[in-house]
Amino acid sequence: MSSLPSLPRATDGTTFDVRSPVDGAVLGTHPVHGPAEVREAVRRCRAAARRWAAAGWDGRRAALLAWKRSLARRMDEVAEAVAAETGKPVHDARAEVLLALVHLDWAARNARRVLGRRRVPSGPAAFGRRALLAYRPVGVVGVIGPWNYPVHTPMGSIGYALAAGNGVVFKPSELTPGVGELLASSFADAVPAEFADLFLVVTGFGGTGSALAESGVDKVAFTGSPGTARKVAEVCARTLTPLLAECGGKDAVLVGADADLEAAANAIVWGAMANAGQTCAGVERVYAVASVHGDLVERIVRKARELTPGRHYGPMTLPSQLAVVERHLKEALAGGAHAPLGGPESLRAPYVHPVVLVGVAEDAAAMREETFGPVVAVNAVRDLAEAVERANASPYALGAAVFTGTREEGLAVAERLTAGGVSVGSVLGYAAVPSLPFGGTGESGYGRVHGAEGLRAFASARSITVRRRAGGGTDLMSFATSREAAERMVELGRKLHAWR
Ligand code: NAD
Repeated sequence: MSSLPSLPRATDGTTFDVRSPVDGAVLGTHPVHGPAEVREAVRRCRAAARRWAAAGWDGRRAALLAWKRSLARRMDEVAEAVAAETGKPVHDARAEVLLALVHLDWAARNARRVLGRRRVPSGPAAFGRRALLAYRPVGVVGVIGPWNYPVHTPMGSIGYALAAGNGVVFKPSELTPGVGELLASSFADAVPAEFADLFLVVTGFGGTGSALAESGVDKVAFTGSPGTARKVAEVCARTLTPLLAECGGKDAVLVGADADLEAAANAIVWGAMANAGQTCAGVERVYAVASVHGDLVERIVRKARELTPGRHYGPMTLPSQLAVVERHLKEALAGGAHAPLGGPESLRAPYVHPVVLVGVAEDAAAMREETFGPVVAVNAVRDLAEAVERANASPYALGAAVFTGTREEGLAVAERLTAGGVSVGSVLGYAAVPSLPFGGTGESGYGRVHGAEGLRAFASARSITVRRRAGGGTDLMSFATSREAAERMVELGRKLHAWR
């Protein structure tokens, strides 16, 4: 039985219904929290965060691992909530929960190693001082999440922020508030009662997210579209509240002449069609060297044709997304593209059947904007150099994948890509590795979640020096040091730097 830590209620009683994207059935009714309730949640969270800080590394690790074990035991319950609100198959939702567990485990076990106080070299100008680097929690982190991976994606901020010693107030997407509430109640159930308010959920639409960004939280971790990220950034700018923005992607797969085409086609079809293409780092563009382009397209079409929406992947979670997919398809076809599989007739609400496009103009919306549907564009290029150039020409730079004859060649190509994460010989490989940071640049946002960077994202560096002994020695930061001694030391330093 879940116990929600008596979340703030909307004072004016405003609520909203969440409907199944599959059949429109009402799944739940949730409060629309306004600025006053959001501020109250932040206030309560801040009080719990002080107790959390006092719990130390061991206390926090033990509580987070207890939560992780409880989530693992309740995987089916969480996965069913995800499946109901997003429409994705339960087996996909279970895999999503597993990913979140892997990250929570890593964050809990590695927070002390990454953020704990340690000695660093003092350098010759601070001779006689011990230098220590420590990280303190930022305080309360406001997490604003999307609907496409309502457990894994926000947990990339929530788990790491908690492990770094912070409290979290989470605003899930208005499409998946039930999942958000379940995460918070599972936390409250699993940890000692004094920490129950450490992770609170507020629900509502954009206004609630905006209220969270201006509620006085110490950092905002936003995941969503770049357009919304800009609005959140504007609100954060007013109070200089730091922002981490994980936005979308337009990920490319580069395929060389000697690549294993069967492996590439398998990975491309999964990367483009899984979760109905609603993956920020999903495959949207493929650049294949001309000599293998035809063969690769044939394999992709054959595999994609075998997929059944409703079984292999779910519906468009956001109904209005169908219109975006339709616009991208029609514009691409009108601009000279050809569809060896599917076309506008693939849109059968609430599902979109797989679509494969070839010869899409590079300036078409289908190549520049996030399509967020089970659609993949496969263009031919002269060589891998041209593939790199086209992959990097996108306003987004989140993920990419490379298939080449040898791993060495793949690695060399990976290093020339601007994407924040690159998989060689697979797609999305880096997302499952908790010690690797995740994030992008440009329209894909800024900052990183996951890994050591993801822990440091929710911590504030504190530099400490400790003078080794009082008196004696040459101290450049003291009038007690004679001018001659200070000058001798500066000259010594100058010579050292001129020489090395
Ligand atoms: P969205 O931008 O519509 O909404 C994201 C969140 O922001 C929601 O909780 C929403 O209620 C809230 N919001 C809306 N307006 C707001 C405002 N003015 N102020 C504060 N909050 C506001 O995005 P979405 O449709 O929920 O998610 C899909 C997008 O997320 C896609 O672009 C996808 O690529 C991206 N995404 C990125 C990652 C990543 O890690 N890079 C992961 C998953 C999804």
